[in-house]
Amino acid sequence: MPELPEVETVARGLDGRLKGQSIDSIDIRYAKSFDVSKALIEKHVIGAKVKRVWRRQKLLIFELSTDWALVAHLKMTGQFVFVFKGGRGQETGKQSYTGGHPQKAYEQDLPHKHTHVVFKLSSGTLYFNDLRKFGWIKLLPSQQGAVSGGRQTLDQFLAAQEFSPEPLSKDFSVSWLKEKFKRRSLPIKQVIMDQKVAGGVGNIYADEALFNARLSPKKIAKTLTDSDVTKLYYSIRKVLRMGIKHGGTTSNNYRNADGEAGQMQNYLKVYGREGLPCKDDCRGVVERIQLGGRSTHFCLSCQK
Ligand SMILES: [Zn+2]
Repeated sequence: MPELPEVETVARGLDGRLKGQSIDSIDIRYAKSFDVSKALIEKHVIGAKVKRVWRRQKLLIFELSTDWALVAHLKMTGQFVFVFKGGRGQETGKQSYTGGHPQKAYEQDLPHKHTHVVFKLSSGTLYFNDLRKFGWIKLLPSQQGAVSGGRQTLDQFLAAQEFSPEPLSKDFSVSWLKEKFKRRSLPIKQVIMDQKVAGGVGNIYADEALFNARLSPKKIAKTLTDSDVTKLYYSIRKVLRMGIKHGGTTSNNYRNADGEAGQMQNYLKVYGREGLPCKDDCRGVVERIQLGGRSTHFCLSCQK
């Protein structure tokens, strides 16, 4: 599953390509991927312009000029492909843009059998592909008022998710983490992967942040000292920023863009490096263990 830096990369990629374009038509080929009435689509989406595409935790939010918004989650296998008019889905560079998971099954002409929603926009076509069909798109009013018709608004929907503050925002602080850790008797790795603690931090960036802070992933959250929490706080922000800077991590289940795949995998210090020497030159070796059902990479000799 993509983590914060990967979804941020997709949001930026789509924002740069879709902003200002109007949506001319929508073809929903698999109803569960985008469960919405035709009437709502006609009234609030068709003819609307995309104002901007942004990210909240792992959600992609497409704000529309009608004061409604499309919200999407890629989940395990979701992918957006934008193909400019005259371009073809499998070509790279200026003709198309792919954000999300790559799959062998997607390597065919678009739309294909894993394409569940097709948006025709003024300068091209946006395809939502999803092999395992856990991903979704929703349509929500951006704010309360006449236009929302009493429906749950985007803000209400986001509030209901109980997300943590964005880890790269000012609201995410050392004191926030201290508060979240003080009663938790679980290993710290599991706690920082809790979306209500540090939303958008998944397996890769949790391992990297703990290495950066030289903390053992097995350490029990409530036993962290103030100095541990402070180190971890800065480490989380550092590895997420690095991930965004390098366009995310490209792996067998995630890729950000055709032809310009993310490079963060080249900068990972522990994740995926089991059996290799620690990058700290501590003479330790990166170990891989299972923690809370997730593979966890860390250096036994320098992460205490
Ligand atoms: Zn080490």
